[in-house]
Amino acid sequence: MIKISSLPADDTTCGWYHLSKGRQIKLPHTGHTHARWVVVGAGFTGLAAARQLALHFPDDQVVLLEAQEVGYGSSGRNAGFAIDLPHDIGAEDYIGDIGIARTTLKLNISGQSLLKDLVERYQIDCQMKHCGKYQAAVEPRGIAVLEAYRRGLDKLEQPYQMIEADELPEHIGTHFYRKALFTPGTSLVQPSALVKGLADHLPANVTLYEHTPITDVAYGAQTVLKHANGSITADKLVLTTNAFGMSFGFLKGRMLPVFTYASLTRVMTDEEQARLGGKPYWGVIPADPFGTTVRRTPDNRLLIRNSFSFNPDGRANRKFIDRFAARHRDAFTRRFPMLPNVPFEYTWGGALAMSRNHMGFFGELAPNVYGALCCNGLGVTRGTATGKLLADWLAGEHNELIDFVRKTPGPNANPPAPLMSLGLNMNLRWGQYRAGKES
Ligand SMILES: Cc1cc2nc3c(=O)[nH]c(=O)nc-3n(C[C@H](O)[C@H](O)[C@H](O)COP(=O)(O)OP(=O)(O)OC[C@H]3O[C@@H](n4cnc5c(N)ncnc54)[C@H](O)[C@@H]3O)c2cc1C
Repeated sequence: MIKISSLPADDTTCGWYHLSKGRQIKLPHTGHTHARWVVVGAGFTGLAAARQLALHFPDDQVVLLEAQEVGYGSSGRNAGFAIDLPHDIGAEDYIGDIGIARTTLKLNISGQSLLKDLVERYQIDCQMKHCGKYQAAVEPRGIAVLEAYRRGLDKLEQPYQMIEADELPEHIGTHFYRKALFTPGTSLVQPSALVKGLADHLPANVTLYEHTPITDVAYGAQTVLKHANGSITADKLVLTTNAFGMSFGFLKGRMLPVFTYASLTRVMTDEEQARLGGKPYWGVIPADPFGTTVRRTPDNRLLIRNSFSFNPDGRANRKFIDRFAARHRDAFTRRFPMLPNVPFEYTWGGALAMSRNHMGFFGELAPNVYGALCCNGLGVTRGTATGKLLADWLAGEHNELIDFVRKTPGPNANPPAPLMSLGLNMNLRWGQYRAGKES
């Protein structure tokens, strides 16, 4: 048996989790079970994989295991942008190879459409709004990014609108930004409400066990997964644990558990909403990847997301939350000077799995062990799409999107640990400093 080297431990203060409706949490697994299909990790990727496996194999039991609660991990703590467009930060125009960009767009749209369909079909109350997104800049460097991305979008034949500083307050209230590129295809969601809703509407042949952290594993013709109260034997194991894939012995030294942080205000009063102005809900992502994401939610709260830390064990660390809450307040004050008395009600962090080449993993990890891992910060649509495609591929399907994700080279190797840690921490600090006013 291999010991799982690290178990997830997210902080208790995620606003989305507390503000979404409570649900009947599924009981932890106990005893000894055998199943043909076992999926570990019930975030966007695992929920999509389990659902699709169950649809392909209606006579099989699919077991879905989650260490925490659904809606409590990263899938419930993100900024809630279900993004359609590709954004290749390694390419000069952020689009790069047009063939790859077109297929990435199809992949993202497939994940987004699946989420939209499920929200509609099951009437999941998750504030889903198909309102597009603004990518906004303050610094000349950020404005250059928007101009380059506009050229890329022309190449990809995708619609957009460039909005100048004087028109922006009509959209988002604040006068803070000098320019924004609006693209209409993004949907915004309350992520914890969405994944909780997805978990409560799984096909009947999926059995979800929550609070069931897998602590030991033995690979072979079958995989044995051990936890505190028993074990599960899987004919086929699907890992959708994002960076925790490394704790299961895969992609070691290839994924980087990087945390990012968010704060959510209380509900603004009518008077505060009038002072802010702009549209009733919107989402802004920064032109500089180290900048600040901002949202106005349909229930009239403001969200700030910025700052990164490298947490090699993938677990939350309270000291960062305290430190970054102050940074969120500073970002808020600079954007919303008209709202001096709107406090944050919640501040939290959550894990991303990053790779140096921005590639995820899709496919076979070992005999009878498969995975869709390494979200690179875009798991809402991409995780949903790749989770579903992994199940399609396991059911023997072939199509353009499966070929595409199968051919991606996967995350590349990192330098050795002490160098990696030093280099990454310096990079994160430098990136955040360089973001300047966009931070
Ligand atoms: C603050 C923040 C903002 C973000 N904003 C966005 C955004 O706007 N749009 C976007 O697309 N993405 C965003 N992301 C990234 C997004 O949250 C992730 O890409 C997404 O959650 C990945 O989904 P996943 O299902 O692959 O992994 P996860 O959501 O991490 O799910 C993996 C699950 O595996 C479970 N697990 C791990 N180990 C074990 C074990 N041993 N036993 C059992 N279960 C285990 C974990 O508890 C976890 O629930 C953001 C992330 C953060 C933190």
